[in-house]
Amino acid sequence: MKQMTFCMGISLALLSCVPEAPAQVPDLSEWSVHDPDRPQPPVVTPGADGASPSDAIVLFDGSDLSAWQHTDGNDATWTLRDGYMEVTRGSIMTRQGFGDMQLHIEWATPNSGDGQNSGNSGVYLMNTYEVQVLNSYENATYPDGQAGSVYGQYPPLVNASRPPGQWQSYDIVFRRPHFSEDGSLESPARVTVFHNGVLIQDNVVLTGPTGHRSRPPYEAHEDRLPLLLQDHSEPTRFRNIWVREL
Ligand code: MG
Repeated sequence: MKQMTFCMGISLALLSCVPEAPAQVPDLSEWSVHDPDRPQPPVVTPGADGASPSDAIVLFDGSDLSAWQHTDGNDATWTLRDGYMEVTRGSIMTRQGFGDMQLHIEWATPNSGDGQNSGNSGVYLMNTYEVQVLNSYENATYPDGQAGSVYGQYPPLVNASRPPGQWQSYDIVFRRPHFSEDGSLESPARVTVFHNGVLIQDNVVLTGPTGHRSRPPYEAHEDRLPLLLQDHSEPTRFRNIWVREL
């Protein structure tokens, strides 16, 4: 019987024969179909061409770095020029912490280097989980380290990269992990990523924090942590960064 496929052994059968959870169809009986009394969704004025919608927290509009600091708490000192910031010295992170979020961010890599050394940076969700930033236009590297990968875990579904020097965008939906009181994992983090409008990560389940040549296990952390942009010693640029908390 299919529901018994998770039995671990006869002696442990009573403890470990957990039936597979049936697929759940949502219960919408609270509201009848087309119920006019159902609450209207909040009105949000969308932005044009990637501009922030009215309910977004703008983290960088090209004018100043006040929402950002270095990891040692000093003010962010990345180069500010012509409406963008450029990686200068040291990773920077938001002063504000975030959990579940929709993130829009635009970036451009320099036209130099190859492999992992071509515009490498990264968007670290909760300062822990990296969506890779890299020049991946006709620049091969290990697939789980190219642009749009969840670094060390998931290559992007497709390579939607533009050439170096051109502006590119990520639109990210992130669901944070949840931890029990005792620090054990209750539910893992999940992420969806659009690269230049193309779906490249489809609600993937993260195995844990980002590591290099490793996949470390989850460690319990706060419900809100800063968004971090990585300094990987290359002058990658960022602009138009905003978040909607979910
Ligand atoms: Mg990186």
